[in-house]
Amino acid sequence: YYSELQRSEKMEIISQLAASVAHEVRNPLQVTRGMLQVLGRKNTIKPGEGDLYQMAIDELDRASVIITDFLGFAKPQMENVVELNLAEEFKHVEGIIVPLANLQGGKLEVHMPKSLRIMGNSAKLKQAIINLIKNSIEALEGSGLVRVWAYEEREQVVIHIADSGSGMDESMIDRLGEPYLTSKSKGTGLGLMITFRIIEAMRGTIVFTSEKGVGTEATIRFPAVNTMREKASVSI
Ligand code: ADP
Ligand code: MG
Repeated sequence: YYSELQRSEKMEIISQLAASVAHEVRNPLQVTRGMLQVLGRKNTIKPGEGDLYQMAIDELDRASVIITDFLGFAKPQMENVVELNLAEEFKHVEGIIVPLANLQGGKLEVHMPKSLRIMGNSAKLKQAIINLIKNSIEALEGSGLVRVWAYEEREQVVIHIADSGSGMDESMIDRLGEPYLTSKSKGTGLGLMITFRIIEAMRGTIVFTSEKGVGTEATIRFPAVNTMREKASVSI
């Protein structure tokens, strides 16, 4: 037990450090990107050089995607496990994802009852959900629908994320969560690895069903926090 505790403490320190670095690095990446865009517009490209400005911008974007997939949008914060209202968390997620969906094509529909509650860390939950919805939007390849809905069932909160995208074959489903597994030219193959770890840390489970050319559905289950039931047991 002793060494395990030490290991998890080390992991926590590493993940804090990584989040801080990501937060600090994102800004200079954005600033440099803006400068390159200006320079690219001002300067004419010499023959034989290719569009070096655009290549530099593409590389910066690649670095940004790695940070986004791996460390999310959240500011670094201490491990903070609290009662989360799923509807509120999904409102924030929609704020980030809807502009992305509009940009890439495809529609997003979220139906979230107001009453669902789980225990967890807000930033990490959002990171996990964003990675999943981002994959669904990318699988649409420009057109189609991503549907998200949730309910409580047998003391579990069940969340479904379903898309009408490209789908996967069975051998791909079996390998999901492997680091660097990607079918995309600009993929990191880190998104699901992080997502699986977060869901596991929150005592949740995730299952994928998919059919090639039809679509994919992820089903996530977390232990529900039922305030009514807790109050009842206290009064008895
Ligand atoms: P990345 O998105 O950077 O490729 P991920 O870990 O997020 O890495 O996903 C790994 C791979 O799993 C993707 O490249 C894709 O092939 C497959 N995948 C994940 N989600 C879906 C989905 N909703 N529809 C189709 N394929 C998916
Ligand atoms: Mg991804």
